[in-house]
Amino acid sequence: MLKCMKRLILAILCILPLVPAQAQFERYFKPQTLCIRYLHSGDFNRQSYRLESFVSHWGVWAGPTQHLTDSFSYGRQKVEVRDAATDSLLYSCSFNSLFDEYRTTEKGRAGKRKSFRECVRIPRPIVPVKICFYSRNAQFEYEKQWEVQFEPGRTKVKNELIIKGRIMALHVVAEPAKAYDILLVPEGYAVSDSAKWRKDAERCAEAILNCSPFKENAYRINIRALYAYSKESGVSRDGAGKRRKKTRLGASFYTLGTERYLMVEDMWRLDKVCSETPCDHALVICNTKKYGGGGIYNFHSTVTDNRYFNYVCVHELGHGIAGLADEYYTSDVAVQDYYPQGTEPPAPNITSLVNFDAKWRDMLDPEVPVPTPAEKQYEDDLGVFEGAGYCAKGLYRPRKSCTMKDIRYDYFCPVCQRAFQRMFDHCCDK
Ligand SMILES: [Zn+2]
Repeated sequence: MLKCMKRLILAILCILPLVPAQAQFERYFKPQTLCIRYLHSGDFNRQSYRLESFVSHWGVWAGPTQHLTDSFSYGRQKVEVRDAATDSLLYSCSFNSLFDEYRTTEKGRAGKRKSFRECVRIPRPIVPVKICFYSRNAQFEYEKQWEVQFEPGRTKVKNELIIKGRIMALHVVAEPAKAYDILLVPEGYAVSDSAKWRKDAERCAEAILNCSPFKENAYRINIRALYAYSKESGVSRDGAGKRRKKTRLGASFYTLGTERYLMVEDMWRLDKVCSETPCDHALVICNTKKYGGGGIYNFHSTVTDNRYFNYVCVHELGHGIAGLADEYYTSDVAVQDYYPQGTEPPAPNITSLVNFDAKWRDMLDPEVPVPTPAEKQYEDDLGVFEGAGYCAKGLYRPRKSCTMKDIRYDYFCPVCQRAFQRMFDHCCDK
């Protein structure tokens, strides 16, 4: 009997790992997108969340159906979906948000509260679940902040109105679950700008697909563009004065007080526009010549119709898709001490050397000194160069120059390229 039991246990142990991941997905989720819209408020020391609504998207679930948990943890926030009955983890994803940046600005540190409209998208659960939100503390450890229950059939879910906008399929090569889906969204294009929008969207797709490592992954990257027009041409605060323009998403320069920083603060508006189309990441193209942009990991990215268009497109996607940090340290930014001393930043392409083994040590030639002197002989080498993440001292980058440091298109360093590659593998279920 005991022998039989042992055999049975052994058989179960052998069978368990073989349950296909796809079957796990189908047991708990539908291939549809559920969006959780909430208000995220607070300052440096305190934060709170308030549910606005659960919204059902018309578009399919474009995220992974096999890699359901986040193995990167690049984000300062994280959402976890847990089975309400067993507490087992069913899905997780980390991300950054404008709130994370705001709380480290001068105003945020001084205790001035501000509210942001945020949302996260998850595959639609078919069993009762609890959805837990985490935020990193001063030691960069995740701390649980909020939990909300979702019970299929009982929890109220809003159906997003169908806008029936047309879609430009610029480069569609694979089904959404097996592809990384980039959605180009127009901001500040009036109906009279429709020919320009088509041209700008095509230029953007070209800029993405001609840059490594997007180029090598073109067989699994989909790029679509929406037709969604604004009442006025241009973007808020792109000229003199503070006049707000009547645009689809309300994007504006001077986000968090920095002139060139251009973000959409109201994520509910952006989510509504994107709700019918497969989307892993939204890149908002803003109809202005003024230099600017922004990119936040698993949030969204922006670019303007400027002479640095190609460079800004891929630089901001570095933040937005691969969780990359800025490797520069000389320009002014609104955030202060964004990477506290004595901690290892979560981003894959900078290090404080607190835990360099978790970064790119495995890619480094053992002959190259750590840290690496800024000398001519190491000009194009992979190394550990001081100055990164807005700090001249104490943070290090992988190469002297990279698209995440200088205005150089198609010049991502090997560490940044690997981060993209790993993210595409994860999201495309490879
Ligand atoms: Zn780099």
